[in-house]
Formats: sequence, C-alpha cells, structure tokens
Amino acid sequence: MYQAADDRYDRMTFARCGRSGLDLPRVSLGLWHNFGGDGLSKSARTMLLNSFDRGITHFDLANNYGPPPGSAEENFGRILATDLAPYRDELVISTKAGYLMWDGPYGEWGSRKYLLASLDQSLKRMGLEYVDIFYSHRFDPATPLDETMGALDAAVRAGKALYAGISSYGPDQTREAAAILKSLGTPCLIHQPSYSMLNRWVEGGLLDVLEDEGIGCIAFSPLAQGLLTDKYLKGVPKRSRAAIGDSFSTDLLTEQNLANVAALNEIAAERGQTLAQMALAWVLRDPRVTSVLIGASRWKQIEDSLGALDNTAFTDDELAAIDRHALDGGINIWA
Ligand code: NAP
Repeated sequence: MYQAADDRYDRMTFARCGRSGLDLPRVSLGLWHNFGGDGLSKSARTMLLNSFDRGITHFDLANNYGPPPGSAEENFGRILATDLAPYRDELVISTKAGYLMWDGPYGEWGSRKYLLASLDQSLKRMGLEYVDIFYSHRFDPATPLDETMGALDAAVRAGKALYAGISSYGPDQTREAAAILKSLGTPCLIHQPSYSMLNRWVEGGLLDVLEDEGIGCIAFSPLAQGLLTDKYLKGVPKRSRAAIGDSFSTDLLTEQNLANVAALNEIAAERGQTLAQMALAWVLRDPRVTSVLIGASRWKQIEDSLGALDNTAFTDDELAAIDRHALDGGINIWA
C-alpha cells in the first residue's frame, strides 16, 4: 500500500497561477509520452509516485495521450485507484480536447459537441468525478470562439472541471478567449504554450497578454523534447525519443545544433547545473511563467530536473551567452 512521503512539500516551491487562488508546483509532470499502453508499467508507476513524493502535485493529460489514444488517462486512472485516491484533494489533474480522438465530424477541434463528449470520456477513463483543469487543446479557426469557450464554461458549471484553460492559442485569440470566459463568469485560469530556450514564440506578445489578463502560464516541452539535455551529445541512446522517432526527428541532431547544445552544456556546468536543470531554470526565470511542464522516460530524469529549482537566477552575461547559442546563429528550431 503506497503511503506518500511525509516530507513531500519540504523541497517543492509553488507559484500562484495568474490572478487566481490556485498554486501550482514550479515543476509539473506531463503524461504525453511513456505512460500509455496496455497497463501501467513499473517505471510509469515509479515516476508518478516518486514525483508526488517530491511535491509534484500537478499531472497533465489529454484525451489523446498514449499510444493508443486514451491509454495514458486509463493508466492514470489505475494509479489513482490503487495508490493516489486518498490524495485526490492534493492533486491538480488536467486534461484537454482538441486533437483527433475519434472518427467522424465530432471527434476533434472545438465544437461544444466534441469538447463535452470528450470530457465525459476522459472522466470515465480516469475514474474521476471532475478534473481540476479542462483545456481547449488548440484554437479552432472554423468554430466560433463563443462556442468553444461556452463549452469550457459549461464543463465548469456542470462540476466536471474546476477551472478552464487554453493551449497554444495566439496572443489575440487568447485575449478574445479571456474576454468571453470572463463575461461568462468562468475566468481563464491558465494558458499552456510551448516555450524553451530554443522556442520563444511566447515572447512575441503572448506573455504580455497573460500578465494583463491575470492568466497563469505552464510551459510545455521546456527541454525541447530532450534536445536541451546532454543525452544526444554522445549519439542517440537506444530508448530515447529521437530513436523512437514519432515526435522528435533526428534531423534536428545536426553537427551545428549539437555544437550549440555542447556549448549550452558548458554554460550550465559553470552554473553548477546540468543542461536540463539550466533549461528549466531559464524558463522559470520569467515571473509570468507559473510552472514548467516536463516529460520523462524514467525517474532519474525527473529527479535531475527537480534540481533546477535550486538556482533560477541568471546574470545578464549568462543570458547573453545562452542567446549566442540558442537564438539565430545558434539553434532556433521551433520559432
Ligand atoms: P520535455 O520535458 O521538453 O521533454 C521530455 C523528454 O526529455 C523526456 O521524455 C526525455 O526524453 C528527456 N528528458 C527529460 N528530462 C531529462 C533529463 N533530466 N535528462 C535527460 N533527458 C531528459 O517535455 P515534453 O515531454 O515534450 O512535454 C511535456 C508535457 O507537456 C507533455 O507530457 C504534455 O503534458 C505537455 N505537452 C502539451 C502539448 C500541447 O499541445 N498542449 C504538446 C506537447 C506536450 P527520452 O524520452 O528520450 O528519455
């Protein structure tokens, strides 16, 4: 029988999510990769329980996480049933709908029909009465935003979600979504964009909008799916995401990119950090970022990543040195 560690809150730091009443751990765990399949693997169970033991209270899912789609939620439901159920009120569990989940015209994008049906399916897979955050996973240009936001509001009013969020919406779309949600009486809690040293699109207006609107920010793929770690400096490890090749292409592992990663690795070493730790600390240096949303294939990686919290301050010289290797002229892959 799992018993959570007594000291689980001693080392984690929390930040307020925008101008809401909800705190999130500064490091959160996502279940996009490595939690799917037929049953919960031993390593997935270890990652989830050890994370909670270290104060990671926020776990992020989506309807389609697997493979197969839906299986990450099913497996998360298993660990809730066997181990984490007594701690439900200490957990912030999120899910999303927006990408293709089932056949036909109602299985993706942003209609009320899709979002609310998908949320019901997610709740069933996880064995939950409610999720803490329900997201629109992507902006739908073919559906009135009033309808998509109305579905998030309806989910909250029905008690199936406590808060509403949006993911990967641009700055103008975010402002409009926030205004609609506010008018409905369900403020937008959080935005989930991609953000890393190599992918800085949020700096082009989105972070300003989030600050103005009082919306929190949880940054996904802060390690650029593993590129911002030392794992590819000596070739492609067998069990890595690049070796599997479904979401991360080895085309990124050019000589020039790897030379820049090696240089970033040295800057991290001078700061007394691993590259993963520095990459996460760099995202967290901006006070508008509530939490970094990491992925992992084994517990050791999460443990390493948690070390980022020991030093999230940067000198101007360090920031400039990072930019020399991570911006134009260095690597700039997902602009
Ligand atoms: P990430 O943290 O950038 O990448 C995770 C990968 O990096 C791991 O699977 C592992 O690769 C490697 N890694 C992690 N920590 C490491 C360490 N300390 N040392 C060496 N390697 C390390 O994040 P992500 O998995 O791409 O995304 C994180 C979460 O964001 C997802 O689970 C999901 O919840 C969310 N997300 C949301 C969207 C959206 O549209 N809203 C899109 C993508 C992701 P290996 O597997 O190769 O070991």
